[in-house]
Amino acid sequence: MRIVDLIIKKKNNISLTNEEIHYIIDGYVNGEIEDYQMSSLLMAICFNGLDENEQVAFTKEMLESGEQIDLSSIDGICVDKHSTGGVGDKTTLVVGPLFAACGLKLAKMSGRGLGHTGGTLDKLESIPGMSINIDSNDFFKQVKEISLAVISQTANITPADKKLYALRDVTGTVDSIGLIASSIMSKKLASGAHSIVLDVKVGDGAFMKNIEEAKELANAMVKIGNSYGRKMIIVLSDMDQPLGNMVGNSLEVIEAIETLKGNGPKEFSDFCFELVAEMLLSTGVCKNKEDALKLITEKIENKEALEKLKQMIIYQHGNPNVINDYSLFPQAKNKIAVISEVDGFVNKLKALQIGESAILLGAGRESKDDIIDLGVGIEIVKKVGDKVNKGDVLAYLFSNGKNEQIVYNKVLNSYDIVSYKTKKNNIIKEVIK
Ligand code: URA
Repeated sequence: MRIVDLIIKKKNNISLTNEEIHYIIDGYVNGEIEDYQMSSLLMAICFNGLDENEQVAFTKEMLESGEQIDLSSIDGICVDKHSTGGVGDKTTLVVGPLFAACGLKLAKMSGRGLGHTGGTLDKLESIPGMSINIDSNDFFKQVKEISLAVISQTANITPADKKLYALRDVTGTVDSIGLIASSIMSKKLASGAHSIVLDVKVGDGAFMKNIEEAKELANAMVKIGNSYGRKMIIVLSDMDQPLGNMVGNSLEVIEAIETLKGNGPKEFSDFCFELVAEMLLSTGVCKNKEDALKLITEKIENKEALEKLKQMIIYQHGNPNVINDYSLFPQAKNKIAVISEVDGFVNKLKALQIGESAILLGAGRESKDDIIDLGVGIEIVKKVGDKVNKGDVLAYLFSNGKNEQIVYNKVLNSYDIVSYKTKKNNIIKEVIK
């Protein structure tokens, strides 16, 4: 087999066989297939898609490219959660500790930022000392002892996805339903949990721009998950504006901590609580939604969920004092207000532009080896549905001087302000069980 023939085959929109997909993934992991060849194939896949059989084969090959975790030695219910990627999405940092405080166990492997979206691992690394590279033995020990671990895919878990993910990030080849479904599901299957909640983002700042595409992705993942006997809950959620108010690594961790303290933005807190409630219902921990929400409120009020985050930070060698002293996080030098030039109501707040703005400030990578500036980002002050007067602050930029003027204009232009009253966005669009 020759990779160039397979690239041409996919370019001509002919399905690849299982053997060919095995050859591609194996060859790429072994270094026999070069990045430039893989990029070309990925681009052909973005244009022509992967059919159901190809998606299952991609998932299988990536899953089998490394170690698979067997969580059966851990007592209790091991769950997992994954988002398809959004702007300001710090949900894992809130729902993980809540799962643990409510009696579930979260054994999670997270990813880095991808395209204009942020990644939980980058966010966690803004906690001084925090390690996300934990070997399987310590991962098990941590989940057994404190019910919560969020780590990087270890080198031997889905190494194929790890390598492909980094390449897709910088070659404009993220937004393919088949690639996203197989990337996510290979990791979820390899990490061993039996109940999985998948947060499929929909809208301007998501890889899926409309509800039809999001449902297609959701169905693709449910099919793959069910074929491996996994219980799946899919939540389709809004990404037409950033989630919560903070975008950027340290800023988002601080917002997550505030949420665990009970002071988070209401819609973001409610969204996290809904995800946890769905999982508590699905795993039988709670009998109805009301009981689930009551349990969650209790775990926020008695600070048990916050304590779980603190324990995770300690186990992963981070400085737990960040919980009460935000000055320990990497800081940006400048705080710049973005000012409204008009009166009206926020009709749209383009999440994609906000995500791109954060990257321009240095909060994400433009090429594979870029170093992230963990202190920079954007605070959204006015969101969709809010009233705005000329001269009001729409957002703040937290900057260390990179691209400041460009970002100022880009953030200002992300706002569509109209003269009539507008409605707030509902975050949860649909739950598929
Ligand atoms: N998240 C993943 O893990 N993989 C993708 O391809 C996109 C989002």
